[in-house]
Amino acid sequence: MTWPPLREELRGVEPYGAPQLDVPVQLNTNENPYGPSDACADDIAAAVRAAATSLNRYPDREHTELRAALAAYLGHGVTPEQVWAANGSNEVMLQLLQAFGGPGRTALSFAPTYSMYPEYARDTVTEWVVGHRESDFALDLDHAHDLVLERQPSVVLLPSPNNPTGTALPPEAVGLLCKAAGDGGIVVIDEAYGEFRREGVPSALELMPEHRNLVVTRTMSKAFAAAGLRLGYLAADPAICDAIRVVRLPYHLSSVTQATALAALKHAPELLGKVDELRAERDATVDWLRAQGLRVADSDANFVLFGTFADRHAVWQGLLDRGVLIRETGPDGWLRVSIGTADEMMAFKNALTEVMGDES
Ligand SMILES: *Cc1c(COP(=O)(O)O)cnc(C)c1O
Repeated sequence: MTWPPLREELRGVEPYGAPQLDVPVQLNTNENPYGPSDACADDIAAAVRAAATSLNRYPDREHTELRAALAAYLGHGVTPEQVWAANGSNEVMLQLLQAFGGPGRTALSFAPTYSMYPEYARDTVTEWVVGHRESDFALDLDHAHDLVLERQPSVVLLPSPNNPTGTALPPEAVGLLCKAAGDGGIVVIDEAYGEFRREGVPSALELMPEHRNLVVTRTMSKAFAAAGLRLGYLAADPAICDAIRVVRLPYHLSSVTQATALAALKHAPELLGKVDELRAERDATVDWLRAQGLRVADSDANFVLFGTFADRHAVWQGLLDRGVLIRETGPDGWLRVSIGTADEMMAFKNALTEVMGDES
């Protein structure tokens, strides 16, 4: 007998997570490089101070005020009854798998895709199926449609923009998958990077009125500059929110989290104020990498996937040796860099130029 008496499929598995290294330029987890202002931090502190006087009581388990504020932020006619929040959109998606996945059920995505999805499937004993994407990382609509009809997944999980490639889905892809999944499945469009979309690329929120099985998830971790807060949420049919109520832990969202998120939402224009600058920096980074002769995936997110390198680990390490931490992820030979400040991107470009010089 091996000890501890772990589930068979968890034995020897490494925990998920990017290395958290203390280096000068951190471009590896797609955070917003600009933190909250002092005025915003003061308002958060005051809101938490007020919440602290009733910490003897459990929080509002329905997080009513927060759901209303998130619905107002989303717009598109989304109502508070269509919103559900949890500790990061990772928790929201795990709750979806707990409610809609499980033994005898299937979850489906298309690779390369977010590496946490197979973990939700594993942890909820849901069968995990992955289709493929085109060589430019766009979804092959015929293949996607056929695979949904063939495997009849209870949950389809698709990031748009996709992590790690940055690729956004066209609206016709979302509509097609929702129709193919039908009443037997939900289609989760993970818009963690939604706020970074390029001009003219629509949100799946626009399609909500047409498809009751469509779920759109969002987070305050990326554009919203609040990764430390741990607040993610979804918009979906109220019946889907009711299903999550059955599986969520009691009082899953603390009073401190609710107060912080509400105070942060009041500063939305400020917290999102650097998004345009980051998008411009992203586009400039794509152009610069292409000018170096590299392959670069089109990006609607705050990161760029580029390559390909015969030994990507050596490139990653070479950058790290120069104080620049990026992410070794995606298909073989590719690397992913998050968009930081102009100074940080300059440091990245200088370091990569040196490393590529050493290579050749
Ligand atoms: C970063 C990210 C999230 C957000 O996770 P949180 O738990 O909300 O911090 C969700 N989906 C994808 C694809 C991501 O890259």
